[in-house]
Amino acid sequence: MIHSDGIEVSGYNIAMGTLYRQLPAVHQLLESPRLAGAVERHGHRTVVAACQRELSNLRARIRNGEIVDEVQIKALADALPDLIDSQLEAVWRRPYAEVLNGTGVLLHTNLGRAPMGKTVPAGLEGYLALEYDLKDGRRGQRLDPIRRRLAETFGAEAGVMVNNNAAAVLLMLTVHAAGREVIVSRGQLIEIGGSFRLPDIMAASGARMVEVGCTNRTHLHDYARAIGENTAAILVAHRSNFRMEGFTAEPQIRELADLAHENGLPLLVDQGSGAVHDLRRWSLPHEPTVGEILSHGADIVCFSGDKLLGGPQAGIAVGGAQWVEPMGRHSLFRALRPDKTALVHMERILAAHHEERLEEIPLYAMLGSSLEELRRRARRLARRLRAAGLDAETTPTKGALGGGTTPGATVPGHGLRLAGGNSLAAALRRVRPPVIAVRDGDRVVLDLRTIPPDRDRALESAILEAVAETAHASS
Ligand SMILES: *Cc1c(COP(=O)(O)O)cnc(C)c1O
Repeated sequence: MIHSDGIEVSGYNIAMGTLYRQLPAVHQLLESPRLAGAVERHGHRTVVAACQRELSNLRARIRNGEIVDEVQIKALADALPDLIDSQLEAVWRRPYAEVLNGTGVLLHTNLGRAPMGKTVPAGLEGYLALEYDLKDGRRGQRLDPIRRRLAETFGAEAGVMVNNNAAAVLLMLTVHAAGREVIVSRGQLIEIGGSFRLPDIMAASGARMVEVGCTNRTHLHDYARAIGENTAAILVAHRSNFRMEGFTAEPQIRELADLAHENGLPLLVDQGSGAVHDLRRWSLPHEPTVGEILSHGADIVCFSGDKLLGGPQAGIAVGGAQWVEPMGRHSLFRALRPDKTALVHMERILAAHHEERLEEIPLYAMLGSSLEELRRRARRLARRLRAAGLDAETTPTKGALGGGTTPGATVPGHGLRLAGGNSLAAALRRVRPPVIAVRDGDRVVLDLRTIPPDRDRALESAILEAVAETAHASS
């Protein structure tokens, strides 16, 4: 037995040796045109390391008996230069580069929510007085400059900024309710995309959630009945990404604030979207602004910086100094604080809101472009594309604010409709800059509201390139 096993094994080894010898050497791989180009883009060392990794992968597959014949190994070896080059491209070809958003969804969470524009801080290269008091030459507070601006913008006593709204809610609950109870309506146990679930954040903060009411109806007396000696706060969470219709009821913020205050409790609000202005200005449904919620008696209002504020990723809490200031002093704040880029950016966004320079905030520039402007751009683009032989026409579009705001409401726009289905949509994603389109049967639609006008030429060449690629692929 032992003897025959030994022969088998050594017979296998001879076969494996033949297979190993089919593998190219690293220097042979580097001579292929594909990898010669890769060396120019990524450097010699990176490409050599990638070759060694892929070769040892193949050796392991031979050893495991996954690769057993010479035809197979030859095909895999021939494919190595392409494989290695595309792997390196996938890793190093600027994965966060610009895309043209043709979806018409203004706050597209997967495309970075609020687009950035003129308010993006330039001149961040050097040092800044981030935590430095220039007057006294002593250590200062990172949030001091922004605190006042937040308070003024939202008509609050105090403000604090952290990394995102999930962090703001976590910090708020940790500081004011850890180890105690927070009353929340069953109709507001929300999940936002990207795994923000209110019950989970509540659990992480150490607060105990006391659910009241029913999914569709919660009354003031439901809250009143749940208040006990262990209650720390009443929490209201904005239903940001869905709508409840029909037989529904919930108390007003003002009533809840009165109830909380009669019992010596704070009313905490996860408002989410950070509405600063009345959205009816842009013919959208009204969404209570942060200022309105505060004026109705809320003690802390939390929201994102990159939704209706149109700024960088951030979480903001504004409200009464007695409630908001402890959030900035808690040790958890140190783990959740914003970085300097976001702080400088936010400071400029707040100034633009304050001085009503909304056209400098891309979100509002896009929201404010008239249908007539969009139609004009669409007509010009369609004309140029048709002149290049494409089947392109203009079309009215239905966009949305998105990002968990004004659920169900549409933002009318105008754009292009191009002949081509999935294959064109896929080709549009492959060109530079990638274009994200919406499929509509055997056509794709591009909403021009979410594409800045100064990118129309880039859009035009991207479309031409993508169409040429699909034509090439199908011929
Ligand atoms: C968007 C949103 C969040 C999450 O905010 P992030 O900034 O993404 O962390 C939480 N609550 C509500 C109500 C929201 O709308």
